[in-house]
Amino acid sequence: MDLSQIDLASLSVVKYPDPRLRRPCQTITQFDAALAALARRMCQIMYQTKGVGLAAPQVGLALRLFVINPTGDPAQPEFESAYVNGRIVSRDGSLTTEEGCLSVPGLSVRIKRAAKVTLEAADLQGQVRQYPAEGLLARIFQHETDHIENTIIADRMSAVAKLSLSNRQLLKDLEEEFQEQQ
Ligand SMILES: [Zn+2]
Repeated sequence: MDLSQIDLASLSVVKYPDPRLRRPCQTITQFDAALAALARRMCQIMYQTKGVGLAAPQVGLALRLFVINPTGDPAQPEFESAYVNGRIVSRDGSLTTEEGCLSVPGLSVRIKRAAKVTLEAADLQGQVRQYPAEGLLARIFQHETDHIENTIIADRMSAVAKLSLSNRQLLKDLEEEFQEQQ
């Protein structure tokens, strides 16, 4: 994919069950101004939609890229980062907490994740580093790497959450809404 051909202005958050959330993501090999501009645009969309992280499939692009800002606050850009070709290389402990997703609006479910992880990823210049994380940052890393591996929170819900009538209704409503837009 030639990143300079992407129409940045037209990007917006795609929602469950949009098949673009499920397309295998390409490894990024082009570390240039077009990649930086895409990351910048994804940060803008993340702030507009009040998120703390946004992955490329969530704007319809099958690329191994995500951006985060754990504060969710555009006035605190020092906490903003972009991660390219990220993968979790170590996991430790476990923690179950409530989680939501911009692509599954309204769904808030308890999800069991590793308490501590190490993410290995390149930055926008192509420099590969390891990022140890715990707490909210560890959770965001796991949620966003899930997206670039085509997994969403609806897949990770507990058996109990899957049986919940309100969760089922919510997913059904999103499916109907998606059908109507086609
Ligand atoms: Zn998400």
